[in-house]
Amino acid sequence: MDDTMTDVEHSAVSASDSDASAISISPTKITAPLKPSEYVHSELISISVGSEKKKYHVYRDLLTAKSLWFAARMKENWKREPNEVNLEHHESTAFDIVLNWMFGCDIDSEPSLLVNALLQKLGPAYKLASELLMYPLQNAIVDASLANQRNRIANPSFAAIVMLWDMDLSTTELFRMALRARIRCVMLWSSKMSLNKIPGIAEVYARPDLLKLVFQTTYEYNAAAWPRVFDAPRCTYHEHSDGESCDTEAR
Ligand SMILES: [Zn+2]
Repeated sequence: MDDTMTDVEHSAVSASDSDASAISISPTKITAPLKPSEYVHSELISISVGSEKKKYHVYRDLLTAKSLWFAARMKENWKREPNEVNLEHHESTAFDIVLNWMFGCDIDSEPSLLVNALLQKLGPAYKLASELLMYPLQNAIVDASLANQRNRIANPSFAAIVMLWDMDLSTTELFRMALRARIRCVMLWSSKMSLNKIPGIAEVYARPDLLKLVFQTTYEYNAAAWPRVFDAPRCTYHEHSDGESCDTEAR
């Protein structure tokens, strides 16, 4: 193959076409805390985000320390990799959340927002984190969503569920947690509110596979005596590699 052609054709790389998930790197090592002195001497990687192609320049060693996807992409064969990364199918607001977390900011549970609004804000960041293989960030988003729901008046709505479903996140722990919490909430309101008045229910009806899942989960969850989702033991809705847990993974 002609080398010049290869360089041109692969001048940018997208997270969605990666085979990085097949590469084995210890999450414990990858998620260890980082001091600025450990990454500020590395080169800056150009990242293009969103349809507006917003440009970010981020230290390579920070990216590879916090993301298994970046680690797999860049650690071994950096000289052969392109120096521009394309995340144009993600929103820059989602990348801002990912970047702030890489720099050490926690995910805010935002008590002033109802959980539906919080999930709609954090969902795109969760999707990006899952593509970049950032389990600890995914788990931090779950923890913030659970914290948001504690000590709150239940607010029945399927709006966030429909959004997460449409983002193809239905197999994730965030979706599993959110669906259980929303169904429990809706059932608690069943004597006070007509089902057809619940926000988002028409959108659920319009998605037969989602409607089936809502029905199945309602049936299964009812049998479990309706435990409060946010009281579940830590790790219940976390993503971890085999053999890892919050006890073994440092941030
Ligand atoms: Zn955990």
